[in-house]
Amino acid sequence: MSEIYISREKAIDAIEREYGDDVMGAIKAKEAIYSVELADCRPVVHGHWVDASDTSGREYFRCSECGTYIEKIFFAHDYPVNCCPCCTAIMDK
Ligand SMILES: [Zn+2]
Repeated sequence: MSEIYISREKAIDAIEREYGDDVMGAIKAKEAIYSVELADCRPVVHGHWVDASDTSGREYFRCSECGTYIEKIFFAHDYPVNCCPCCTAIMDK
């Protein structure tokens, strides 16, 4: 069975928005959500490469999300430019 993951905090917010936070049904629903085991997943991070070359002649790109510097020379050799190798950000932002 395929699963879809949602944010627990956003689910709690939706219950409170719809029913308030002191209605017994809303309290039970929130308790049920908090009782569910956490999924082994993390949010997808989107970023982009920032040109971070310096005046020494070395050319770099810097990941917008984690700040990792990678020499541009690696990009010319089939380096995986669509994903940061350090934080795994998808470079589509
Ligand atoms: Zn990164």
